[in-house]
Amino acid sequence: MTVPADHIVGSTGECQNYAQTLTPTQMSRWQKAQSVKEPLQIVTLDEALNASKTKSKTKKTWIYKADNVRDFAWTASRRFVWDALPTMIEGKKIMSMSYYAKEAYPIYSKYSTKAVAHTLRTYSDFSFPYPYPVAISVEGNQGMEYPMISFNPGRANDDGSYSEGAKNAAILVIIHEVGHTFFPMIVNSDERQWTWMDEGLNSYLQYLSQELWDNKFPSDGGVPSAITDYMKLPKNQLEPIMTNSENINNFGSNAYDKVATGLNMLRETIVGRELLMKLSALIQDVGHSNRRHLQISSALLKMQQVKTLTGFGEGGFIVQMPVILQLIQ
Ligand SMILES: [Zn+2]
Repeated sequence: MTVPADHIVGSTGECQNYAQTLTPTQMSRWQKAQSVKEPLQIVTLDEALNASKTKSKTKKTWIYKADNVRDFAWTASRRFVWDALPTMIEGKKIMSMSYYAKEAYPIYSKYSTKAVAHTLRTYSDFSFPYPYPVAISVEGNQGMEYPMISFNPGRANDDGSYSEGAKNAAILVIIHEVGHTFFPMIVNSDERQWTWMDEGLNSYLQYLSQELWDNKFPSDGGVPSAITDYMKLPKNQLEPIMTNSENINNFGSNAYDKVATGLNMLRETIVGRELLMKLSALIQDVGHSNRRHLQISSALLKMQQVKTLTGFGEGGFIVQMPVILQLIQ
């Protein structure tokens, strides 16, 4: 990417030429950031504010390399603060990083990179180790995911204050969008066909990550009580989870929340936590060995053979079946 010389670039992949693109001060901070325990600012707020006052007439080229990606995205601005924190996943160092302007500074400097690092740890525990060298949160208008880089909201008020809701919304979206690097950027399902395979699995792991971030986190997706209004809709307004993405009537409730809630109930009530960890392993095997999306649902159906789960896989995902309760005695 060839950009004005005063811009800072963030991208999918690893930068190959920081020696040419960073100032000596930034370069020494980047080297120091390789072993810090708290996010370290490679570009500070004062430097970003200074850089915003003028416009460079020269240009610099930033070179990135990424392996095993199906897409890429990048960002550039002279207004960016940039911080980084090394995150160890199974002995491998990943650089968790954030890029944000002054409007997001109060929230992002405290929480963004820590939320990225937290997401890498929790998702790696519940599914498979994060395989990429970097994970990035960029402050933007709304949440959107790409391999290794995501764009998330999180601006403070003009006076620098922010509500608990704004803080939690930023953390929630950062966890969700960074989580998408696992599903569908690595487990390569087709989101245009089957929304639940990325959004549903991701929302489930997002819920678990929020609980581990703060067990008082105001989660709603994934909590059974939060989905009752949707589940009691007239039956002709409900669809199986295995509904093509373009035909889903109630997108968020069907493909995100119902899947997250169902898997959460499976984990907490029906089969228990140990067996559901195996489901994650099964999804991983299926995702890596055979990239056909329907294989993931067969992984769910295999679960039924592990333990008798009448109605869960087929009733919850393939058709729209009611809950059947029976009094034995
Ligand atoms: Zn999503």
